[in-house]
Amino acid sequence: MKSAYITKHGDLDDITVGQLDDPEISHDEILVRGKFAALNHLDSFVVKGWKGLDLTFPHVLGSDGSGIVLQTGEAVSTIQEGDCILANPGLSCMKCYQCLSGTQNLCSDFSIIGEHANGTFSTVFKIPEVNALKVPRTFPLDMAAAAPLTFLTAWRMLTNRAKVKQGQTVFIHGAGGGVATAAIQIAKAHGATVIVTTSTPAKMEMARKLGADHVLNYKTNQVYDKEVYIKITKKKGVDIVIDSVGSPTFSKSLRLLRKDGILVTCGATAGQEATIDIRQIFWKQVRVLGSTMANQAEFRDAMNFILEGRGTPVISKVFSLDDIVDAERYLLSEDSFGKVLIQIS
Ligand SMILES: [Zn+2]
Repeated sequence: MKSAYITKHGDLDDITVGQLDDPEISHDEILVRGKFAALNHLDSFVVKGWKGLDLTFPHVLGSDGSGIVLQTGEAVSTIQEGDCILANPGLSCMKCYQCLSGTQNLCSDFSIIGEHANGTFSTVFKIPEVNALKVPRTFPLDMAAAAPLTFLTAWRMLTNRAKVKQGQTVFIHGAGGGVATAAIQIAKAHGATVIVTTSTPAKMEMARKLGADHVLNYKTNQVYDKEVYIKITKKKGVDIVIDSVGSPTFSKSLRLLRKDGILVTCGATAGQEATIDIRQIFWKQVRVLGSTMANQAEFRDAMNFILEGRGTPVISKVFSLDDIVDAERYLLSEDSFGKVLIQIS
C-alpha cells in the first residue's frame, strides 16, 4: 500500500510517502481501500510527538477517511465487501464498564485512529467493524471523509455538554476551523443565534453563508468580546462558548459568558496555557466543560446529520497523497476555511 507515514518524531518534512505492507485484519476488523482522507491539527501534533505518545514506527498518519471495503474478518456481520464506508476515528475496547455504558470516549483505552493506531492516509487501511458506518452509494466519499472527527466533536460539545436549546446564543471562535464550521451548522439546526469570529473579509462572508448571524473580524477588531457583550447581547453575555483555540481566546471566552453560561473546550490548537480571572468563574457561576471526541451514539447522530443533508462538511481544498506536506502546511495557514482533503485513489 502507498501511505503517508513517519519513522520518527520531528516536523512536517519528516513525513514520507511510500510503500508499506498491507495491514492484516483480525476477526472483528475490516480492510478498506481508501478513497478520501481529511487532515486535522492532530496530524501535526502526532508528527511532533508528546511525552507519553509511544508509537510503533513506521506510523501511518490520518484520522478521517472514507473508502470501499476490500475484506472483512470472519466475525464481521454488518459490513460486506464492496460497501462504501466512513470511519469513526475513536477507538475503544468495547468491553469495559464505560464502553458497555455507551460512553466509549471515557474508556481508559480510548485512542484515535492516526494517533495511537495506524491511520487513513493510505491506499489501504483497517478499522474495527464497530468503527465503520455504511454510506449510501449516492453520497460523495469526499464529504464522507470530511465529516467524522470535526462533526462528532462539535455534536457532542453542543448537544451532550452544552445542551444547546432553541433561542440560545452560541459564540464560536475561528469560524474557518473544522470544528467551528461544523458547530455553526449544528447550533443553527438547534435554533440558536450564532456569533463567530474569523480573520479575513472572505472568511467572514463564508461564515455568513454557513448560517452565522453575527460575524466579527478578530484581526481588525481586538475588542470583539466587548462588542459582543455590549452591542450584540445587550450586556447579558452569551449562553454557550465553543473554544478549540486555547491560549489566545480562553480568558475572552470566560468574559463572553452570561451568568450560569457554559464554556466548552475541545482543544488548544494555538497554545495550551492561559491566564484566567477566577472571579469570572465564581461570580458569574459559569461552567467550564471539557469534551473529547464522542461516543458511538453521538458519532452516528452526527453522521446522520450529514447523510440526511441537514449539515454539509465544508471542503477547503483537495490535495494528492504525494502532496501531503503541502496539504498539512495549507491547513496551518490562514488560507484554509473548512476541511483540507487528500484524494487517495
Ligand atoms: Zn472500554
